[in-house]
Amino acid sequence: MTFLFNSDAKRGAIFAEAFAKALPDIAFTMDAASVNPNTVRYLITWTAPTDLSRYRNLEILFSIGAGVDQFDLASIPNHVKLVRMVEDGIARMMQEYVLLAALALHRNIPAYLEQQRQGVWSPIAQMQADRRRIGVLGLGTLAQAVLERLKPIGFPLAGWSRSPRDLEGVTCHHGEAGLEAMLATTDILVCLLPLTDETRGFLNADLLAKLPTGAALVHVGRGPQLDQAALIDALDRGRLGAAMIDVTDPEPLPAGHDLWSHPKIILTPHIASVTQPETAARAVIDNIKRHLAGEEIIGLVDRMRGY
Ligand code: NAP
Repeated sequence: MTFLFNSDAKRGAIFAEAFAKALPDIAFTMDAASVNPNTVRYLITWTAPTDLSRYRNLEILFSIGAGVDQFDLASIPNHVKLVRMVEDGIARMMQEYVLLAALALHRNIPAYLEQQRQGVWSPIAQMQADRRRIGVLGLGTLAQAVLERLKPIGFPLAGWSRSPRDLEGVTCHHGEAGLEAMLATTDILVCLLPLTDETRGFLNADLLAKLPTGAALVHVGRGPQLDQAALIDALDRGRLGAAMIDVTDPEPLPAGHDLWSHPKIILTPHIASVTQPETAARAVIDNIKRHLAGEEIIGLVDRMRGY
């Protein structure tokens, strides 16, 4: 029984050490060229290899990242379980990034950066945190971690998901009507939705128009969820106040693109959160043990939903 690691060797070495200690009966390899494909039961990768079908006994395909939108779900055999990365390291980094973004937008940092560039010394009236309403699109693993981290600041918190949720200290919305209600009462909108057929292009002009005038956006989902031209238009017309954008379409963003230089946008190159090999290895090992014991796998993707 073999675990095939298909990613960078530095992270692989950390996985190899953890596997040797925790799962000594499972052979660990990073060498796809010489492994006997029939022995491969588990594969971890960012994108599916083109020759996936050669691993006839594959049971679990692990994504090395939190999303699975990079896979063509139709090309993965039905009997193979697809599992996204759910691990503490990703959650911690996402907590840091969204806290940073929420505070930066709350304290008018994009406007002050522009004032600095212009040599302008001019305080802006500051709203208190207990009046700055934050609404999160998605109430999954990362959104829930982020909401916990935002709580101590005192922001009124809300979130929106497909199915009803009940989270302490968070006004939970779901469905179409719930979305309208949340948008109308959100000053900083955070997108933490997975990219699916339903969420592609979701952050469009119609949605942005439902936010209060002057609201801000933190986009940490996936680039194709945002209509970038609609965002720029809303910022230019003063409908929206500012945005902090970590994901774009395409990535990397081409030279000269309007997002690079917009005075109301802070842009980062898809670094909000990255899989941490030590904690990720533990999470994958735990999942393999669960699988071998016939228990529920954490992060199992529902192919019908696409996440
Ligand atoms: P998750 O646990 O699967 O949670 C997804 C959430 O989105 C769930 O609450 C789900 O609703 C909701 N949702 C999905 N489709 C929806 C729809 N059509 N309408 C309403 N709600 C919908 O995912 P996660 O681990 O929190 O990760 C979320 C995403 O973050 C990833 O897919 C990835 O794209 C992104 N991400 C970005 C970075 C970065 O560095 N920028 C890093 C890691 C992850 P239910 O609760 O009803 O299922």
